[in-house]
Amino acid sequence: MSLKELNKVQCRAVEAVEGPVLIFAGAGSGKTRVLTHKMVYLIQEGHYHPENILAVTFTNKAAAEMKERVMKLLKTDTLPIAIGTFHSICARLLRNEAKHLNLSPSFAIYDVQDQIDLIKVIHKKLEVHKDILTPNAARSQISYLKNKMIMPSAQLKKARTRLENKLAEVYAAYEISLRENEALDFDDLLLYPLELFDKAPEVLEKYQNIWKYILVDEYQDTNRPQYFFITRMAEKYENISVVGDDDQSIYGWRGADVTNILDFEKFFPSCQIFTLEKNYRSTEQILDAASAVVTHNDKRAKKNLVAANGSGELIGLFETRDELEESDAIISALEKEIKLKKRTFNNFAVLYRTNAQSRALEDNFRRMGIPYNIVGGIRFYDRKEVKDVLAYLRLVMNLKDTISLRRVVNFPPRGIGAKTMDKCVEQASLDKVELFDVLENAEKLPIRGKQSEALESFFELIKKYYDIREKLSACELTRALVEEAGILHHFKESNDPEDAERLDNVNELLNSIDEFCLKMPDSPLSDFLEEVSLLSDIDHWNDSDNRVTLMTAHSSKGLEFPVIFIAGLDDGLFPLYNALESKESLEEERRLFYVAMTRAEERVYLIYATNRRRMGGENLLGMPSRFIGEIPDEFLERIEFQSAVTHRVVGGSRVKQTRVEVTRTVTSFDDFKVGDMVEHSIFGAGKIMVLSGTGENQRVGVVFKDGTKKKLIVKYANLTKIT
Ligand code: ATP
Ligand code: MG
Repeated sequence: MSLKELNKVQCRAVEAVEGPVLIFAGAGSGKTRVLTHKMVYLIQEGHYHPENILAVTFTNKAAAEMKERVMKLLKTDTLPIAIGTFHSICARLLRNEAKHLNLSPSFAIYDVQDQIDLIKVIHKKLEVHKDILTPNAARSQISYLKNKMIMPSAQLKKARTRLENKLAEVYAAYEISLRENEALDFDDLLLYPLELFDKAPEVLEKYQNIWKYILVDEYQDTNRPQYFFITRMAEKYENISVVGDDDQSIYGWRGADVTNILDFEKFFPSCQIFTLEKNYRSTEQILDAASAVVTHNDKRAKKNLVAANGSGELIGLFETRDELEESDAIISALEKEIKLKKRTFNNFAVLYRTNAQSRALEDNFRRMGIPYNIVGGIRFYDRKEVKDVLAYLRLVMNLKDTISLRRVVNFPPRGIGAKTMDKCVEQASLDKVELFDVLENAEKLPIRGKQSEALESFFELIKKYYDIREKLSACELTRALVEEAGILHHFKESNDPEDAERLDNVNELLNSIDEFCLKMPDSPLSDFLEEVSLLSDIDHWNDSDNRVTLMTAHSSKGLEFPVIFIAGLDDGLFPLYNALESKESLEEERRLFYVAMTRAEERVYLIYATNRRRMGGENLLGMPSRFIGEIPDEFLERIEFQSAVTHRVVGGSRVKQTRVEVTRTVTSFDDFKVGDMVEHSIFGAGKIMVLSGTGENQRVGVVFKDGTKKKLIVKYANLTKIT
């Protein structure tokens, strides 16, 4: 095979086919490329048959891409090679060997929601009150314990407090229940093989003889069970290559342990270590700036990484006022890059620290007609807690909406189950009235007094807001309703860490309605609901893959893009406020920032906001991220930004803080008609094909010269008529 696509050290790492190999090197130095070429080399040079190779990657997507690349290099369209994530490889192995563990080969795999539902049943049986331990909290704690390989008996022994005792009890019952349900959770997929190898060493040996060569990517993010899986599998032949970078270890919170790299050397004392010192991804400015930041970490191995791609441009830095202006700044830079450098949408990725930040970005991208994809997780308005609040609003607007009614009648929990609702439905059809109306006289129903009281007070609540819906502005109505329904209280009182994120998302939704009211003070709530529900329409309108990618910094691991925006670089957001408490977690945030920066090939833009409206506001310090301060000034270019949005500070007796009012200046606003030729700042010239609404509410569907179709809100799209 030709190794001309590799440098000298990379070649040596590929050609080291005997014995353990550790490739320990910085971002973009070609670690993944070495693994890919090594697979090809092993096969092509006749060292191993494809079926004797096991390759482990961090995501299924990475596995698919790696396999495709290997097949291309081997010029074949089938490849009987085991490439996958730890979870997928282990699941396959367990299905084949289930009998050794008295397990049904058709075992179910429980996801997070299934786990929570199961724990709810256990809570009921063991009479665990959610004030002591919520099912969500129990789930994440159990998972943490399993990742650390602490079994229920061990947890019980070391339990001191009432809470720890309860958790141990629930954990033990949970394990039994999983078995009864013939189900494995995600953590079991990694733990069961280890149990299997202990119980049936001959099975381990069988796989050792199948997978004679093992390759592992992103080794720094393996947890303890994964470490044991790999070392046990490799202990017979010791033919294994792992690649990793301690500076990119970002899953400590999930039990990943960077000491696994150091322990690799201990476990395999004969291992050869290669360090790759050329970075082929990023320009010098980007690489040196990112390296300057990560050297502030004490716990790291020193590295010498040099950019192979020349100096490049400075790191762009935007100071913005708030998340609205932040997204405007991103769009303006994106527009310039497209115009001046002829880039396409898929050249860009916007990275952020928390999922809740995607909302403001999505809103603005949608208004401007910029196509985007959100990686990992559901879109903001599709999140359950966000949908629940929207369902309240929909119900208040339309009492006949039974879907929304069902969605929220027991949220926050009021003790109203499916059976009670069935009785309500029966009664409604007997009395020939609307489902909602049945709730008014719930005492007539064959249900317990407590439940009928709960139904009646739910009725009162909704009816009250229905009656005043036109007297309040959209934001006043929403805030009051969310408060009175007890939604904020419900999440605030929970001790489940995931509820903190849900609370953030609800606050984000409230922010978005505030912004809507500031922009369009006279528009009713129904307009907001319509705007939100239009989301999917616009998505369907253009289904090309040429889109900007929005994702968390965590999801960006291993990927690369010509241009990277890192949004939300406010101290307290990135790094997260909670992470400031310990040196360890601050260092993990810094590594995450390093990962984010090193995704970029040619250009990085950093953006922070001085007055971000978010998360109840309490956690933000109003200062740029300390990581920006750790970049030497010579790498930074502060970009003056003229927003299309003009800010006017208004004080007022009703608002405690000084508030920033946002008014969008519409420069070229006109009433358009079908057939008009228009110019858009990004898409260029196009023709209006469809049109709806007038004035402020006018929307147009435009086909642009390159065939792109777009649905745009005229007010935001800055279209100019051309002849
Ligand atoms: P990360 O740390 O982000 O996982 P990595 O070390 O795995 O990065 P790769 O993704 O393998 O790095 O490589 C980074 C980029 O550099 C890729 O675009 C890859 O194709 C390119 N590259 C790697 N080695 C070479 C080489 N010898 N010559 C030219 N390009 C290379
Ligand atoms: Mg890689």
